[in-house]
Amino acid sequence: MADYDYDLFVIGAGSGGTRASRVAAAHGARVAVAEEYRVGGTCVIRGCVPKKLLVYGAHFAEDLKDARRFGWQVPSDCEFSWETLRDNVLSEVDRLNGAYKKTLESHNVEIIDQRAVVTGPNSVRLADGTEKTAERILIAVGAHPAVPSCPGHEHGITSNEAFHLDAIPKRVLIAGAGYIANEFAGVFHQFGAHVTLINRSKDILRGYDLTIRDRLLQISMMKGIEFRFDATFEGIEKMDDGCLKVSMSNHEPMIVDLVMFATGRLPNTHGLGLETAGVELDDHGAIKVDEDNRSTCPSIYAVGDVTNRVQLTPVAIREGQAFADTVFGNKPTRVDYDCIPAAVFSHPPMAGVGMTEAQAKQTLGSVRVYTSDFRPMKNVLAGREERALYKMVCDGDTGRVVGLHMIGPDVPEILQAAAIAVKAGLTKAQFDATVALHPTMSEELVLMR
Ligand code: NDP
Repeated sequence: MADYDYDLFVIGAGSGGTRASRVAAAHGARVAVAEEYRVGGTCVIRGCVPKKLLVYGAHFAEDLKDARRFGWQVPSDCEFSWETLRDNVLSEVDRLNGAYKKTLESHNVEIIDQRAVVTGPNSVRLADGTEKTAERILIAVGAHPAVPSCPGHEHGITSNEAFHLDAIPKRVLIAGAGYIANEFAGVFHQFGAHVTLINRSKDILRGYDLTIRDRLLQISMMKGIEFRFDATFEGIEKMDDGCLKVSMSNHEPMIVDLVMFATGRLPNTHGLGLETAGVELDDHGAIKVDEDNRSTCPSIYAVGDVTNRVQLTPVAIREGQAFADTVFGNKPTRVDYDCIPAAVFSHPPMAGVGMTEAQAKQTLGSVRVYTSDFRPMKNVLAGREERALYKMVCDGDTGRVVGLHMIGPDVPEILQAAAIAVKAGLTKAQFDATVALHPTMSEELVLMR
């Protein structure tokens, strides 16, 4: 048997790579993980975690306004310091980065702070030229923001840079209308910027239930966020005063202070040497893998966003765990991709699990839909017009709940619990058999008509 430096060499210490490394090591494997940027990956360093902290920070803008209706004296000159929030968020990121490193070290995973590229089925080369061999290689290098190749695109930023801004700009234009665009639209708006979202199609958040995303659009517009649809990005011109002039199809050009691209993410496979080992990519540049995360090269596996299956942290973590348990733990495991809950941390947030109404009608034929459209009591007292909307999609024949879609305060927190019932295949009658917990917003889940 060949004598390798490691049993497993992982490229990329994000959510999937970190989980796979430490679980494989716990199963007794000799593991090294190479990371060219910072241990923790997109989610921890420049994604979910710092984004959620900004969302919390942004929410205070409305909470402080509402507080007056609840009797609190909030001075009218109450000020927000972006620098304070930014620096505190970045310190928290540093803390988590340290915690991730410690976890790997305590599991005897060797951390290599360098880029590594594949040079064959069992070998990699580090940035300093060192060659390493491993019986198996796991690619967990994630994805990066896609930026349209239009003139002047270099004047725009992506979500990567948004966490490091010197100040909150007055006028922000966000290209795209997906997760990142809607989340950052809420954040920038609450911090006082005028935000415009432009999208090439007529839709926001394609893939989410139509009624729910329509509600987000309506509330966002009510708050003052502007939308331009059928607007293909044509270019950015930097003016003498530093402002940016943005051109797009079907609309007048706009002058703004910041342009942020949120137009999807592409797998980080470029220049990774995958061709040296016969690892095949799909049309989007993602690594093709089978149900056991194995690529077209038998000794090379891949998990997470680089495989472009479901670009969500908890999915990458499950894939990393399944890979390590299957290959090193003698515990064959496959990820179940059915009924994965997801949320958009917009203002207000949205969340959903299972089939949308349209998908259910296409798949099942007979469908029953129940909705609850209500103004949360906190919004009523605060004089806030925003209404929450919950939608339950059921199989018309069996009553099984096949989808749950929500928009309103705290819905990601509510949906995580409700998703257990949807995943378990419970029926509307079983939801209704549970007594309502009053007064809550989530009681609507058992009271829908
Ligand atoms: P999304 O896929 O959510 O949205 C991309 C948006 O950009 C869409 O509006 C799309 O328009 C538009 N678009 C795509 N390509 C182009 C192009 N070439 N030119 C102009 N517009 C384009 O991507 P995001 O970047 O917002 O997020 C990436 C992924 O990260 C998400 O899909 C999600 O998996 C993950 N994520 C998850 C979060 C969460 O769980 N809360 C938060 C943030 C990210 P159209 O509709 O016409 O295709």
